[in-house]
Amino acid sequence: MQSVANFVGGTWMDTSTAAASHVIDPATGELLAAVPVRGGDAVSDAVRAAGHAFPDWRDTPPGERIQVLFRFKDLLERRFESIARLVSAENGKTLAEARGELRRGIENVEVACGIPTMMQGYNLEDIARGIDEVMLRQPLGVVGVITPFNFPAMIPLWFLPYAIACGNTVVIKPSEKVPLAISEILRTLQESGLPDGVANLVHGGREAADALIEHPMVRAISFVGSSPVARHVYSLAARHGKRVQCQGGAKNHVVVMPDADLETATEIIADSAFGCAGQRCLAVSQVVTVDAAHPPFREGIVEAARTLRVGRGMDEGVEMGPVITAESRDRILGEIGRGLSGGATALLDGRGIRVDGYPRGNFVGPTVLDSVDPAGHLARTEVFGPVLGLTKVRTLEEAIGTIAASPFGNASSIFTSSGAAARKFRSEVSTGNVGVNIGVAAPMAYFPFSGWKDSFFGVLHGQGRDAVEFYTEKKVVVERWPQQWSRKF
Ligand code: NAD
Repeated sequence: MQSVANFVGGTWMDTSTAAASHVIDPATGELLAAVPVRGGDAVSDAVRAAGHAFPDWRDTPPGERIQVLFRFKDLLERRFESIARLVSAENGKTLAEARGELRRGIENVEVACGIPTMMQGYNLEDIARGIDEVMLRQPLGVVGVITPFNFPAMIPLWFLPYAIACGNTVVIKPSEKVPLAISEILRTLQESGLPDGVANLVHGGREAADALIEHPMVRAISFVGSSPVARHVYSLAARHGKRVQCQGGAKNHVVVMPDADLETATEIIADSAFGCAGQRCLAVSQVVTVDAAHPPFREGIVEAARTLRVGRGMDEGVEMGPVITAESRDRILGEIGRGLSGGATALLDGRGIRVDGYPRGNFVGPTVLDSVDPAGHLARTEVFGPVLGLTKVRTLEEAIGTIAASPFGNASSIFTSSGAAARKFRSEVSTGNVGVNIGVAAPMAYFPFSGWKDSFFGVLHGQGRDAVEFYTEKKVVVERWPQQWSRKF
């Protein structure tokens, strides 16, 4: 079995002698690759290589830096299908979902090509008589990126293009569960003409992540993952004086009002809850129905969930793939059991599912639980699987209050035909990404990904203008050039 290679200073480095864990196809159980579990030493080498590459890359004009990104975009388009297949194989999501995430990722490359405009500062002539002030943005130096398993291609691309377009050099440590697509993406970046050492890839687990965060040459850390790890990364990075942005976990609510178009709402919510087998930080996991919306919504959602075709993500017609690992499956099954012991009732129980032809797959069937206690364990815990809870309330105020009580604040949505209800929700709800008649309020590359509360630790978010702000340092220059000096020449 092949070990994934690290990419350090422009060279692909063999990792076959390192202590390794296995990358396993979540549908077939087939071994795909070996991946180093530690990675601390390789991080030092990669940071050194990135530090070495920084002075030249920083001095490369932004207009030249983005030429690499234009070529990168072109090559990603040509390899679109093969990278999407790698994502589907290592993560388990359907091919359509893998294509969708790669498309969203490439959009960030496109936006980062605007760096010569986005990175501009501002100035004012005559802040005092004969004195001018200019604000410049400059790159930070070496930055670290640590990413989760659920979007193997897209999430690294939330950061990588902006960081390098701004003139930084990067060390990325992807999730050890999905090292394949990111390796192909780095290979593509190398073939796009990126100078050696500007982007480096180190595989590994917690040890590699901590080594990257603690390394004295690393100026900033971008992290995406679960909230407990996000909290750890945030405090470790702060202790080491790093600039840091940490996107964490989620428990996303959707409110269904009695005046909503229930047929459309049901279809969209089913897609949001069960797409990517519920392993999306923007997946809806808790529906709060207001008053009369409950009975018809309950009936519709169970029907929509029951008819979803579960199977291997790469097979034709499959609508929902497996979850990432057997441990993850067992944890999700445990959470369903805990929800039921906490008073919920199962309208659809996905625990016993068998998928023909894939006896070793980590499958959990779509699950719908009614009467979930909004203050109970299930409503307050990120399940990260195809499990949808329903809770009935009497008013919109009560629904907004239910969301406010959640420790998470990643996303929420409302389904309604009332502009006034939508406006109230948008204004008062305590999440950073909000959908109105939208199931997954996913920000596009030009907007920040704006989680709140335990879903985000930091100030500047990923993507768009926030990314440029995060990856640059501001410098203000105050200048006086008296007339008599120029007369001398
Ligand atoms: P995870 O927190 O287990 O791992 C994320 C990354 O951190 C991986 O690279 C992993 O190797 C590393 N890591 C794990 N434990 C660590 C530790 N103790 N110290 C340092 N590094 C450590 O997350 P995951 O299971 O890979 O991904 C799923 C989670 O990510 C979910 O909670 C999901 O909601 C969240 N997520 C959030 C967003 C967002 O934008 N808010 C997007 C995608 C996923």
